[in-house]
Amino acid sequence: MTRDDSLRGELDDFEHLLTDLWIGGKSVPASDGGRFDVLDPATGQVLTSVANGTVDDALAAVDAAHSAAAAWAATAPRERSEILRRAFELMTAHSEQLARLVTLENGKALPDARGEVAYAAEFFRWYAEEAVRGIGEVMTAPAGKNKILVLQQPVGICVLVTPWNFPAAMATRKIGPALAAGCTVVLKPASDTPLTALAMAKILDEAGVPPGVVNVLPARRSGPTVSAMLHDPRVRKLSFTGSTEVGRVLLKEAADQVINCSMELGGNAPFLVFADADLDAALDGAMVAKMRNGGEACTAANRFYVERSIAEEFSRGLAERMGALRVGPGIDADTQVGPMVNDETAGKVDELVRGAVAEGATAVVGGRRPDRPGFYYEPTVLSGVQPGSAILSEEIFGPVAPIVVFDTEDEAIRLANDTEYGLVSYVFTGDLARGLRVSEAMESGMVGLNRGVVSDPAAPFGGTKQSGVGREGGHEGMLDYLESKYIAVDW
Ligand code: NAD
Repeated sequence: MTRDDSLRGELDDFEHLLTDLWIGGKSVPASDGGRFDVLDPATGQVLTSVANGTVDDALAAVDAAHSAAAAWAATAPRERSEILRRAFELMTAHSEQLARLVTLENGKALPDARGEVAYAAEFFRWYAEEAVRGIGEVMTAPAGKNKILVLQQPVGICVLVTPWNFPAAMATRKIGPALAAGCTVVLKPASDTPLTALAMAKILDEAGVPPGVVNVLPARRSGPTVSAMLHDPRVRKLSFTGSTEVGRVLLKEAADQVINCSMELGGNAPFLVFADADLDAALDGAMVAKMRNGGEACTAANRFYVERSIAEEFSRGLAERMGALRVGPGIDADTQVGPMVNDETAGKVDELVRGAVAEGATAVVGGRRPDRPGFYYEPTVLSGVQPGSAILSEEIFGPVAPIVVFDTEDEAIRLANDTEYGLVSYVFTGDLARGLRVSEAMESGMVGLNRGVVSDPAAPFGGTKQSGVGREGGHEGMLDYLESKYIAVDW
């Protein structure tokens, strides 16, 4: 039996494996019988195939979400809370199988997949807790004559569109607050990673989510299927996580029906290291900020700006750590960096590195695609990167760390903010006053101050500028699925 046969066998044994569409609480084939392949990024071989949703299927999913909407919105918050809590417990009980499923279709190393599943499950726990913390307001109007009553009501049917880089967490970060708020949803997962999203549907079903409340529609034809849903007058919300490029297209589509939009888009995170920083802590932070998920994260440090007096030592330290990482199939026990999700992504990283080197940068470590099957890229550190190089302005989305030297705080801030993106920034310094001053000056929705990770289900995650609109997680994440209704009352 080949390695791929054995992985396919493992997949067949997964308790939560679904390979058809999930509509109205049932697993159903595509209306035209179409299917598409899901590949193993470690080998490029076919793992399995899933049903390829059509426009008719997308509208059937909206029908199902519509049929379930009124009853779900009327469910007691405590009941919605307990269903989400059970979903958290089921995900936790099956975490190892789910992590292996994430690795099989996404490629990421198992420790990253385990981290993702734990993070993903936390959104169900957090929103189980938020579901019962209803909010509203009563006040006397300034003229003193009447009262102002403000209720929060579910926004309605939501279309959720997610990327492949965190197939579990990007789904639960949307489904958790939507369900807590009383909304019903249709999730369109990325075509590279539909299996994890379908497994989430099965877990939610087991947790007691009524048929039609959560529908999952894998579809290679993402443009027409999502567009059809955004033009169905019953749909009231789009929550999208993905690239800024696709986000712009969907914002225009959503404008036709003035749909409420939450957009979590691309990033180009600067990572600033001042000479007064604890260098070991900065290097540890850099490794997490750069290499979590093999660099395939919207929060990944994309540009390292290091103060001149420590730049050489920092580059050497980072190169040693990056060079020591074990690269291999994500599913192997000792792998630290898995393959990239597909050939195109690995090719784009290679192109950016080659471009930077042609302009004068030096690959201190790595700098090429290894000569083996699968979609790998070597962990790479580039020093002497020229300002204006494409690798500093585009999202790398791979295991590559370009380093640029700076001389003053003002220059560091200017370089960090010189981008249309504004998702997250990282600042390392031993001076707390400088840390807070620079954090305040960062044009980004989030800042990691002496910390390489910002993601936390209890915190508002999201971007400014062209990195997005709205927040996910925390109290704010739930507000994105609620609408205020104001009642003027004379009493
Ligand atoms: P993508 O934009 O290519 O795809 C995202 C989703 O949109 C997928 O489900 C895809 O099938 C769908 N899609 C693509 N074209 C579409 C169209 N025309 N109409 C409707 N749907 C369409 O992004 P990706 O490559 O899957 O993910 C990587 C990107 O996601 C990166 O830019 C990354 O920064 C971003 N991301 C952002 C966050 C965040 O929270 N801000 C989190 C994770 C990933």
